[in-house]
Amino acid sequence: MVDCPGATGLYTYQLAEHLKVKPGDVLSVPFGSQQLGAIAVRLLSEQPDQLQSAQIRTVDTLISAGFFTASYWQLLERLAAHYQTPLIQVIRTALPPGLLAKSKRRIRLASQPDSSRLSQLTDSAQQLLSRLQQSPTADYSWRYLQKQSRTAYRDLQQLLQQGWVESYLATPRPPRPKQQQAVSLVAHDPCLADLTRRQQEILAVLQRHGGDCWLSEALQLCRTTATTLKGLAAKGCLIIESREVLRTTHGAQGDRDRPKTLTSHQQAALAAINPLSGFASVLLHGVTGSGKTEVYLQAIAPILQAGCSALVLVPEIGLTPQLTDRFQARFGDQVCVYHSALADGERYDTWRQMLSGHPQVVIGTRSAVFAPLPKLGLIVLDEEHDSSFKQDQPIPCYHARTVARWRAELENCPLILGSATPSLESWLQVKGAEAEETSRGGEAEREPAEKSSESDERQGGQKITDPKATTPPATGSPSQLPRSPLPHSLYLSLPQRIHTRPSPPIEIVDMRRELGVGNRSIFSRTLQRSLQAMQDAGNQGILFIHRRGHSSFVSCRSCGYVIECPRCDVSLAYHQPHSQARPTLKCHYCGHAQGHPAACPECGSPYLKRFGSGTQRVVSELAKQLPDLRCIRFDSDTTRTKGSHRALLSRFAQKEADLLVGTQMLTKGIDLPQVTLVAVMAADGLLYMSDYWAAERTYQTITQVAGRAGRGDQPGRVIVQTYTPEEPTIVAIEKQDYAAFASAELAQRKALGYPPYGRLVLLRLSSLDAIAVEHTAEKVAIALEKDYLSELVSERDYTILGPAPAPILRVAQRYRWQILLKLTLGVALPDIASLRQHCPDRVSFAIDVDVLNLF
Ligand code: ADP
Ligand code: ZN
Ligand code: ZN
Repeated sequence: MVDCPGATGLYTYQLAEHLKVKPGDVLSVPFGSQQLGAIAVRLLSEQPDQLQSAQIRTVDTLISAGFFTASYWQLLERLAAHYQTPLIQVIRTALPPGLLAKSKRRIRLASQPDSSRLSQLTDSAQQLLSRLQQSPTADYSWRYLQKQSRTAYRDLQQLLQQGWVESYLATPRPPRPKQQQAVSLVAHDPCLADLTRRQQEILAVLQRHGGDCWLSEALQLCRTTATTLKGLAAKGCLIIESREVLRTTHGAQGDRDRPKTLTSHQQAALAAINPLSGFASVLLHGVTGSGKTEVYLQAIAPILQAGCSALVLVPEIGLTPQLTDRFQARFGDQVCVYHSALADGERYDTWRQMLSGHPQVVIGTRSAVFAPLPKLGLIVLDEEHDSSFKQDQPIPCYHARTVARWRAELENCPLILGSATPSLESWLQVKGAEAEETSRGGEAEREPAEKSSESDERQGGQKITDPKATTPPATGSPSQLPRSPLPHSLYLSLPQRIHTRPSPPIEIVDMRRELGVGNRSIFSRTLQRSLQAMQDAGNQGILFIHRRGHSSFVSCRSCGYVIECPRCDVSLAYHQPHSQARPTLKCHYCGHAQGHPAACPECGSPYLKRFGSGTQRVVSELAKQLPDLRCIRFDSDTTRTKGSHRALLSRFAQKEADLLVGTQMLTKGIDLPQVTLVAVMAADGLLYMSDYWAAERTYQTITQVAGRAGRGDQPGRVIVQTYTPEEPTIVAIEKQDYAAFASAELAQRKALGYPPYGRLVLLRLSSLDAIAVEHTAEKVAIALEKDYLSELVSERDYTILGPAPAPILRVAQRYRWQILLKLTLGVALPDIASLRQHCPDRVSFAIDVDVLNLF
């Protein structure tokens, strides 16, 4: 694989006799007229048929051997095979862009030159050699040497061949401290400054926030522009200056956060985790606030002490600043944050820094599962049930939990999956057949510490599960149906919140009854009363609205025309960042943006009406019914710009509002002690989505939001409004009985052959050409059945659904069709990647193995 923009394929080179190369080594190769960095992907024993010897060029040198560990390379190969993706795509996903181009190649003396052979060198090669010998470090960057002589390349080849010098990739210097603009208020004479009302307002807002913050935060908080702030700076009211962003605010050892004294449940969990030395998969099941993070921290400490590193995967970095802060408070600058939203340069720096092998903790989102930590001692997946661990596109459509499991197996280290609401897949893996039986209450959960020490004795080692287990070894396909828990799997639970603050009870409100007694508001009487009581007590609350369709839209009051995206089959969302801004219309699918038209494009009527999003509607209803209640909207419209999450949350934390009204984003990372009330507007919206795991997601989402209530000293209250209170999922939510929910839901999945009892593979096709994509989808479906399945898989073991148009047929002008393949568990998926051959160039084709998102 060649590291050059635009070069997307694999290229074949030949190796000189003396060069020993392994997959994963970094090479230097000729490419066109350039000299490029490359990675050896695969060694071929025979020359490929379609290539002539004369066409194959020769690898120049081995720049760095063992750049990747063997197990890292195996991981990438396994991913490519399982997700039926070309290895090259997997490598591109794993490595930061421009890795090799940016790596600094250096040359140094390797051995004392044999003077009798010196004469074999050309003059210029001798010069190069003496230049190196004269340098105090006997070491130069290749770039520098190239500048010294036009023949540097040939000269170097001679020296390399003699074995007198070697070339290597330098570990970069630690990333440069980042500078960022900051704003601070200065004392000024209000009379002299001659300020407008707006300017005074801005200063007042800044004052309220402590008078010092980052420029980006200030823009958010004051809803103003940089020009306005500069104007204020010119009047001497504030200073804008560049300031260093500290990687950690707790640098000094002294003021670091100290490990907490563990509760007995935490102790039991840690006692089971600490002795694990090889691969094991641990499900840490604990309600929010039960102290899981503290267990991660204390499980990681000894790993670092032993000189190893740990990887912590979280669903979304932006939403969990508190988690990152806690890790930094505990481990200081041994913590590094890695995710794909980092700028290329930052990603590259962090990546090379990880390769250095210093013991460290890497916190990141799903792509961080590829963090190249050489000595990995532990992997943690927090909120393991979260669907953002699954990549829908581009290929490879991997699930970070699956990849993390493979990685832990390959590195032979433990994997901790933490959640308040485990995925049914992970639940089944640790519980086996027990998960399917009707709940046996407390009896089902034996004391974790006892369980592991017991089996330790019987097994005399690290085997954790019942020795009578009859399932295949853990290294088998993760899709094996466990009758007993999978070997090497361990269930630990933290059933109580810290300080035994009880989890708040969940009250289910039947909205049909509200109608029955004549309450036609979207707020039940209970909810109205509790909102009032909350405000009277000076507390705060969260109102959660589930919403699928994204946002607001604009429609004509005369003819009903809805303004749609010209490139997708969806309506455009109304967008106005602040009240002075010109309104625009934007597409959430493809990013298309246009000005708000003055008149209806269809009939010319000037009466265009904006229909608010779910959140907006709820907020305006609230304003009518409880006019004194101050609300902050927290949804994709109000949090689109960078830093707005933090800014809105900090305004809420400063009690600038009583209620936070929002969507999905509220489920994560909000840990505010003064929140006493959490309400879910309509739980039903979550249930009636037509994918197979709607119920699981409903249970998870509502439980997560509910967990935001009552984290402080005051007890919390949770109200869930629904039109179907008898729905088993809602009943299980009310009782907060995860085991009961899981066993009922698993029974259904089993009956229908859905995951985790069956596998789903989605083939996605798309094209600008509506006819071509439909025809291709039909051809592919026929070929799939005829050439792959009917020969290799028994007829009972598969079902093909479709081809069918995707739920939103057109996105970014591309028409989309899909074919869903359902497979019996344990049946190997034939290699279907070659179905691509049925697709003409203008139809793109992707395979999503173990698909989650069917939309
Ligand atoms: P989770 O990750 O399960 O949501 P956390 O680890 O965040 O739970 O713990 C919730 C709160 O309790 C945090 O504020 C944390 O600092 C505190 N905490 C955790 N463990 C302890 C302990 N053993 N003693 C005192 N406080 C603790
Ligand atoms: Zn119209
Ligand atoms: Zn669009």
